[in-house]
Amino acid sequence: MSTAYDSSNIFAKIIRGELPAYKVYEDADTLAFMDIMPRSRGHALVIPKTPARNILDANPSQLAACLATAQKVGRAAMKAFDADGLTLQQFNETAGGQVVFHLHFHVLPRWSSQKLQPHTGQMEKPEVLAANAEKLRQALEAG
Ligand code: AMP
Repeated sequence: MSTAYDSSNIFAKIIRGELPAYKVYEDADTLAFMDIMPRSRGHALVIPKTPARNILDANPSQLAACLATAQKVGRAAMKAFDADGLTLQQFNETAGGQVVFHLHFHVLPRWSSQKLQPHTGQMEKPEVLAANAEKLRQALEAG
């Protein structure tokens, strides 16, 4: 099994601007955007801008930057979607549930009465993703 970083992955293309994304936050080291097959309303992903396949080859500064951004996005999501809680998920290698081989953290707003939708389940409507991204951006700007 090869565990080398492959720069043709979908998230590397998003970083390079070759594929679109519903972006919500960006700084020098990280990017956050909506997951197109959300497991909960407002499901976002946080990635480092530099190459890392997953947590197994990432360096500590990539992990620190991603977690700082996940905290920012998570706090904003709690307000934007009036959530009761927050789940962070992160998968490594196929056997660990990883589908896209660029390190990413899932930021999932949660509500007491609602279970998570299936992983990589249904594609959300573009207008819903755009509206949720806008809500998150506004909450991030409000601080
Ligand atoms: P995993 O690698 O198991 O963490 O799963 C990859 C995640 O990326 C899934 O939740 C997908 O819904 C999501 N995903 C796949 N392609 C895109 C894309 N182009 N934009 C945003 N999210 C995506």
